[in-house]
Parts: sequence; structure tokens; C-alpha cells
Amino acid sequence: MKSMRNAGELMELLQLPDKIPRPLAVSTMRCPLLGRIHFVRDPKGIMQLLCVFIYWLYGTFSSLFIIILPRYAEGYISGIFVTAFMSISLLCLTSLVRVSTLNPGRIPPSTAVSIHENEHWTYCRMCNSMRPQRAHHCRRCGQCVMRMDHHCPWINNCVGEENHYAFFLLLLYAFLLSAVVFLLCMLHFWVYPKCQQCDKDAFYVRHSIWFLYLLTLLAANMTLVMGIQLIGQHFNLLIDRTTLENMQQSPDPNRIHLRSTFTAYEEMCGRKRSMMFLWLFPCKRKTVISRGVSSQTV
Ligand SMILES: [Zn+2]
Ligand SMILES: [Zn+2]
Repeated sequence: MKSMRNAGELMELLQLPDKIPRPLAVSTMRCPLLGRIHFVRDPKGIMQLLCVFIYWLYGTFSSLFIIILPRYAEGYISGIFVTAFMSISLLCLTSLVRVSTLNPGRIPPSTAVSIHENEHWTYCRMCNSMRPQRAHHCRRCGQCVMRMDHHCPWINNCVGEENHYAFFLLLLYAFLLSAVVFLLCMLHFWVYPKCQQCDKDAFYVRHSIWFLYLLTLLAANMTLVMGIQLIGQHFNLLIDRTTLENMQQSPDPNRIHLRSTFTAYEEMCGRKRSMMFLWLFPCKRKTVISRGVSSQTV
């Protein structure tokens, strides 16, 4: 035990990384619809991403076939509601695809910087390259990321300057979808009468009670988790702090500077005021080039 502590202290004194640097675990490729995509080759992360996709699939289609379509046929639910539900669900899936495949703002290896920039930049011993302020090294991806918020295993990617808006949209649409599904389950259990037009022999109708118990549990859990995450991310944006920065050091209440909501979201989404409606869509790539490094070149 004593020798282990000594080894740790020696590492600290010598300023050496305490683990062997991992090679870059990221692949990039061109995709017809999405452009250049960025993919982290992490088997555990891929499994977790798959779980999120299965939740989306289960939540959307069990609600659709067990509650929404039968109640629409009976006149309890309007066509506008069905369209809105499917739109939120598709936006949720698109946000998931975008946030997990977008380059989060990788710093190119061996970034060449001018002497002036060097004064404010720091050196990453893992990547052996210079990085701007607020960039952090992700050990899971083996790369430095601009204004890194955190590495999220559920999207199998880092959340950084370039994909933060897609992450925020994912939280927003996952929250909305889960809240609507939970509300539908409550209406099904407590308000709607027994379904008359349902196909009683269909597998999902015969076992609907178990499908709906699981759906209610998942929807309640996700509404709570996504709601808390959304509020946390919103306040982080207002005080211009990242999750990692808060974990390293709690914000000092005397030095907190609250930005306006518009300024905070404009910086994250990086689009002109006239195009504000695009803030709600995860399809358009952010085009802001900041802090001297553009991920377009990575
Ligand atoms: Zn690094
Ligand atoms: Zn990462």
C-alpha cells in the first residue's frame, strides 16, 4: 500500500501521466446524408447507445400501437396530436444520431499555434499537442476537445463546443417525448374507457398491460432524468460553465456572471438571429469558428 502511494507521488513529482496514453479511438467517414461523420470505436459506448435507441423504439411504437392509434380511431385523440407526437419522436432520433456522430470539436494533433496564442494555450501530454483554454482531454476517445462539457457514454461521444447544441436538443426532445408518453399512459389507465375497436387477438393487445407498465416506468424515469439534466445544462449555459469545470471546482457564487438567455443560446447554436427557428432542428451543422481552431479542418 505504502509503495503504491510512493509510486503515485513519484508520478506526480515527475508530472507523468498516471496511465499509458490510449490511442485515438475515433473513426471518421463520409456519409451521403450526414456528411463527414465521427464515430467512437468503444464497444461499451456502442452498447449504451444501442440501449438508448431501443428505448426510443419501444417508447415510440408501443405508445403508437397500444394507445395513440386505437384512441385516434375512437376520436379521443386528434390528428394534430398524432402528427406532433411523431414529429417530436423523429426530432429526438435525429438529435441522437447527430450528437453521436458529430465531431465534438477535436483539436487536430500537433496543432501549430502562433507565439501569441501560445501564451493562453496549454500543452496536453496525452496528445502531445497544444490546446486552447477550456479544452480538455477525453481518455475514452483519446483526444482533446474544445470547450469539452463531458464524455457521455449514452451517446458514445464527447459533448463539446461543436455538438453541444445537438446534445441540448436531444435532452429537450427526450424530455418532451417521455413526458407525453407518461401523460398518455396516465390517460389510458385513469381516463379512457376500455378500447372497443382494438384487435383483441393481436399480441400487443393481449399483453398490453405489461407493455404499458414497463412503458410508464421508463417514461417516468426518463422524464425526471432528462428534466434535471435540461435544467442543469440551462443554468450551466447561463453562467458559462461546463459540467467538467463544475466537477473540478464548484462555481463561486460571488463571481458568477449571469448571461442573458439569448446570448447563451446564441453562442451555443451559433446561428444568425434571422435563422433562430433553426435552433430547434439538429440537422444543420454549427458553423462558428472559435478560439483559433476549426473542427472543419479536423
Ligand atoms: Zn489531449
Ligand atoms: Zn470522449
